[in-house]
Amino acid sequence: MRIVSSFLLSILTFNNKNVLAMALWPVVIYRNKKTSENTVIQNHEKIHHRQQIELLILPFYIWYFIEYWVGMFGCKFKHEIAYRNISFEMEAYEQERNMGYLKNRPYFSNWKYFKLKIKKHA
Ligand SMILES: [Zn+2]
Repeated sequence: MRIVSSFLLSILTFNNKNVLAMALWPVVIYRNKKTSENTVIQNHEKIHHRQQIELLILPFYIWYFIEYWVGMFGCKFKHEIAYRNISFEMEAYEQERNMGYLKNRPYFSNWKYFKLKIKKHA
């Protein structure tokens, strides 16, 4: 389900204008019509929906924010670095241009990115 609302997105992101869309299963909230029609952004958010479903929604958000805050402490509170190092985002950014990705995606593929991240920091 698709919602286009800059207002709603601003509330959910504490007015972060860099956020173009947000997946909150079963909906995706887009900043505007143009972002809602961007197939790369659509694919990115669909990957998040898949991640959310397989973690039964709520644990996804818990794990997402744990990774975010561990990252924030690890990088001296640089939001962009912490955000891009969340395994769910690493997977979504790496695969967002791969339009067939979700057809063959193994379950819990974000785990692969989580392990890569741990290895990188070990
Ligand atoms: Zn994302």
